[in-house]
Amino acid sequence: MLSVVLPSYNEEKMIQKATDTISRILEEAKIPYELVFVNDGSKDGTWKEIEKAAAQNKHVVGVKFSRNFGKESAMLAGLANASGDCCAVMDCDLQHPPEVLVEMYRLWEQGYEVVEGVKRTRGKESVLHRASAGMFYKIISKAVKIDMSRASDFKLLDRKAVDAILSMPERNVFFRALSSWVGFEKTSVEFDVQERTEGESKWSTRSLIQYAVKNIVSFSTVPMQCVTVAGVLVFFMAIILGIQSLVKYFSGHAVEGFTTVILLILIIGSIIMISLGIIGYYIAKIYEEVKGRPRYLIEKRISGADDVQNKEHRQKTPPREMKAK
Ligand code: UDP
Ligand code: MG
Repeated sequence: MLSVVLPSYNEEKMIQKATDTISRILEEAKIPYELVFVNDGSKDGTWKEIEKAAAQNKHVVGVKFSRNFGKESAMLAGLANASGDCCAVMDCDLQHPPEVLVEMYRLWEQGYEVVEGVKRTRGKESVLHRASAGMFYKIISKAVKIDMSRASDFKLLDRKAVDAILSMPERNVFFRALSSWVGFEKTSVEFDVQERTEGESKWSTRSLIQYAVKNIVSFSTVPMQCVTVAGVLVFFMAIILGIQSLVKYFSGHAVEGFTTVILLILIIGSIIMISLGIIGYYIAKIYEEVKGRPRYLIEKRISGADDVQNKEHRQKTPPREMKAK
């Protein structure tokens, strides 16, 4: 069976559409499937829509977070709640074309264990966005040692790869890179990013910067090594300036040079502060990992298949608050 994981945050208009489109395509291709919607603490009627979809379609599973935990957590929760032999992850705004799922599934049948969706085109983006995304992927590609510039969160993973990813203890996960990192028999399919039809993108410039910094830190220690490099550079500068000042001192021109002093204080001061910031950020991340909090909290799980049984069960057992009294 193929499990399709769909993280959804404020997507009330898309749930029904996504359910219909994806199930139609998979049924036509005769692929046994389930759709795992993860409601990532939406503030609109997304959960209602998921419940509705589960009542109509027995292939729908819904997982509800207690609050917004972010897309990475939602994808992991979806994988943890999927029971398929292979699991696909895709956006529920249908920007990842569902037809490609069939292509991915066929490749999986041929024995591939990780099928990556690769963006042929990046869709509509501003110049600034494109440039900063380019820089981000350069750093990440170096860290993972795989070209990530066209990578996406649209992929299909074999049960083996899913279990490997789920068994990782780290809190800050960067799913896109982790699925490459686990290895296994890998291939890719190209797809065109579609236009969003309903709702809007959840990413602001600020959240994108946070996303980039967080993921670079979770996969690479290069920023911390930059601190060392900066230190070495400043040390060489110090030797040169040191020699120059000594020469001046002995030749009797020592009073001049206040500009140099001010510049040095400014340069070194700012380098030290930036360095402390970088190190501090890593320590903060270590702190988060050490606390070992769960990646997400699930408030409720529903499944289209046992919806009917659940209803009967609920009628028989009184709510818990009443039992306690
Ligand atoms: N998403 C989520 N949690 C969040 C933000 C987004 O689960 O905190 C989901 C969202 O519902 C969508 C997918 O992640 O299915 C991609 O989000 P979006 O379309 O806003 O990103 P874009 O396509 O613009 O990169
Ligand atoms: Mg989108």
